[in-house]
Amino acid sequence: MARRHRHGRTLVAAAMTALLGVAPAAPAAAAGPATFTPGAPGIGDPHLPLAGNGGYDVGHYDLDVRYAPGTDELTGHATILATATQHLSRFDLDLTGLTVDAVRVNDRPATWTRDGGELVITPSRGLRKGLPFRVDVRYHGVPVRYSFPDPDPTQPPYEYGFVRTDDGAIVAGEPESAALWYPVNDHPRDKATYSTHLTVPDGLTAIGNGVPLGSSTHDGWTTWRWAALTPIAAYVSTMAIGRFRVDQHLHDGRPTVIAVDAAVAPEVADPVVGRTDEITDYLETLFGPYPFESNGAIVERHDALWFALETQTRPIYPVSYFTMGSPQFQAGVVAHELTHQWYGDSVSLTYWYDLWLNEGFATYGEWLWGEHDGYRTVRERFNTFYTLPMDSPFWAPAYDREGEQYGGISAYMRGGMTLHALRMNVGDATFFGILRTWAAEHRHGNATTDQFIALASRLAGRDLRPFLQAWLVGAEKPPNPDPLPASTFSAPAAGCPATVHIRTAPCDR
Ligand SMILES: [Zn+2]
Repeated sequence: MARRHRHGRTLVAAAMTALLGVAPAAPAAAAGPATFTPGAPGIGDPHLPLAGNGGYDVGHYDLDVRYAPGTDELTGHATILATATQHLSRFDLDLTGLTVDAVRVNDRPATWTRDGGELVITPSRGLRKGLPFRVDVRYHGVPVRYSFPDPDPTQPPYEYGFVRTDDGAIVAGEPESAALWYPVNDHPRDKATYSTHLTVPDGLTAIGNGVPLGSSTHDGWTTWRWAALTPIAAYVSTMAIGRFRVDQHLHDGRPTVIAVDAAVAPEVADPVVGRTDEITDYLETLFGPYPFESNGAIVERHDALWFALETQTRPIYPVSYFTMGSPQFQAGVVAHELTHQWYGDSVSLTYWYDLWLNEGFATYGEWLWGEHDGYRTVRERFNTFYTLPMDSPFWAPAYDREGEQYGGISAYMRGGMTLHALRMNVGDATFFGILRTWAAEHRHGNATTDQFIALASRLAGRDLRPFLQAWLVGAEKPPNPDPLPASTFSAPAAGCPATVHIRTAPCDR
């Protein structure tokens, strides 16, 4: 760990003081009769009815978390600054497992009950709509473990969520993983800034989201401090604890922190994740300014971690991505997760069924980078998937508001194909204008498919709804707008998986 971002640290510290210095406002004397009612146990997402909660909006999480890999014991103190969006008699946070020791609201003891993944908090006084409030939750326990068997019995089980590694732990899970380690409004619709203080045994490193604020050691423990000044959707918040080889440097005035599991030989992943700045620079030429105050990567060796995830400012990559395919294929995975920083992390979902807005865009970013990097052209990759039969899972509807599933491989591939078809329809200038405007208008916010269709139609100057709906969800394959002779590109390999799956050969994603 070398240089420190002095300017960033000063800014961050000032901003955090300002944020945390906000005195929790006591509910004002009633200006008139008010009815205080419980906040909803879910934020209103039909596919995940208990995800997130209603009645308030979180502005900031301050997390003080200690984790001892030896005993698997986690101890936490979460301070949550929120604003009531209704007169609240009580409200929920999401918390899976773990034992709650104390809850205070506006510095007064509150009562609480547990109901599955809901932590139901009743403050001693009602919380008035429009006023800020502060919640303190102290908790401890062994985080719940999510593990499921591999269809191949010779393989270890898959894991996600709070994943134990040989020297620590790493948090990675979509659509929900945050509630495994802190109480949270766990839905992308309620994004918030974070400061995290991660305390681990001496000798271990703890990586978080955002800007590094340094570390301090006391009584055999080291506390690593991180701050994210731009709002994060909870599922892309993370921590990674273990022995890492850390490269920290400034790029474009912001810190890049690349942490590679120290057990991974330097020649395996470092050269590819070392292209993070280069790939980000290229993506900025397409999508507009990079949306966050820091950047980086986390590479973990753990075999049971089988997917990469766009954790904000610090995507997580299992090392297996760097042992398959060509270096250019591997760089494409980095381009995918970095594209998500614009599309998915900065512009977040409003409903999980619109997952194609994340994955279709990240797939297309991966294709654009691949062409730039001399791997395969966008046109070749588009045709590879276009030629698959209509009953292949790649051509399933890219979103399904009423269906049981909120996202599959078609959100990636049909989503990416839709963007290429749109580009062919409106031309490069308008198409990249749409992508940049989408990133700018919804920067650090949330958006829906309908809003994307409206934007594309506005910038193209004509109604693109029938065209985009045919590409996204139509039952017929639309005409190929960019055909190539079949002899000039390769079809997907036999056994090409119907889900993005790390343990199979790359499916030319
Ligand atoms: Zn993705």
